[in-house]
Amino acid sequence: MQQYEGTILSGESFDPIQGRVIVEDGRIESIERTETTSSDIILPTFVNAHTHLGDSVAKEAAVGLSLEEAVAPPDSLKHRRLRGADRKELVTAMRRSLRFMEQTGTAACLDFRESGVEGARALREASQELDIDPFIFGSEESSVLDVADGFGASGANDDDFTRQRAAALEAGVPFAIHAGEPDATDIHPAIELDPDLLIHMVHAEQDHLERVADRSIPVAVCPRANTVLDVGKPPIRELVDHTTVGLGTDNVMLNSPSMFREMAYTAKEFDVTAREVLRMATTAGADIVGLDCGVIEPGRRGAFTILDGASDNLAGVVDPVRAVVRRATERDVKRVVV
Ligand SMILES: [Zn+2]
Repeated sequence: MQQYEGTILSGESFDPIQGRVIVEDGRIESIERTETTSSDIILPTFVNAHTHLGDSVAKEAAVGLSLEEAVAPPDSLKHRRLRGADRKELVTAMRRSLRFMEQTGTAACLDFRESGVEGARALREASQELDIDPFIFGSEESSVLDVADGFGASGANDDDFTRQRAAALEAGVPFAIHAGEPDATDIHPAIELDPDLLIHMVHAEQDHLERVADRSIPVAVCPRANTVLDVGKPPIRELVDHTTVGLGTDNVMLNSPSMFREMAYTAKEFDVTAREVLRMATTAGADIVGLDCGVIEPGRRGAFTILDGASDNLAGVVDPVRAVVRRATERDVKRVVV
């Protein structure tokens, strides 16, 4: 049995409780309210709802380029760099990004992996012996589902994904697709594929929001990446009012996969509360693909991040949820328990 004391951001509402979390065989046994001298802040581990770890081989290479030039298949700078990288270089670069994420409190990420079966295999290999689980949305042919955990489509205007959608359904795994990043034209066609997850939705309009709500389709938003590529700002307030919304850091070539940075940016640039942002960064991503982390409550996996509430950065915080979302950085992480 292990126990961890401090201010616990418990349950789906992240109500701060002074006390201890008891963990037995990797599961949260109970949360006990008790007086404590610990200034630690205990929060659920993050689930990064959208990444492209493969372009860890091209950090900052695309800054200043358009969406088309930077990341659009098949000939963007990203795809040229991916083709140019040898396998060992690619696996090493992805492993280093995963390690950074693991060390900074991310237990899982929902990754869109390019390059079909080989690409999915390379990411599996990169994550071996690490405590972070990439949920791999594979690409190209349906046969990628032999290796990947789901299918990730680039966008409904890029290709016909009917076959891959049917294959994912047949295999009982999720089908995710980018939609509404540069403009709204691919949103209805994406929804027609009946996806299990939509990525971006920067240009979602009222009828899209209603369809997403009707079908309970979750959305992953990546606001910092949208800013770097200058495609606009997603309507996060409206999306949160209509469906489950996860927070993702998107391409490693555009931004570091830091959930602290993504949360702070989201909380300050959008009309959402700190609690809503913390939910987007933890519970939502876990719910989208059915992971057993992202909430501190009895019965769940004992996965959480312990911040040093007495650090020079966090000492004296009045509201721990706001502090975690708006102020905390990787430097405040004392320990990650997964
Ligand atoms: Zn993406």
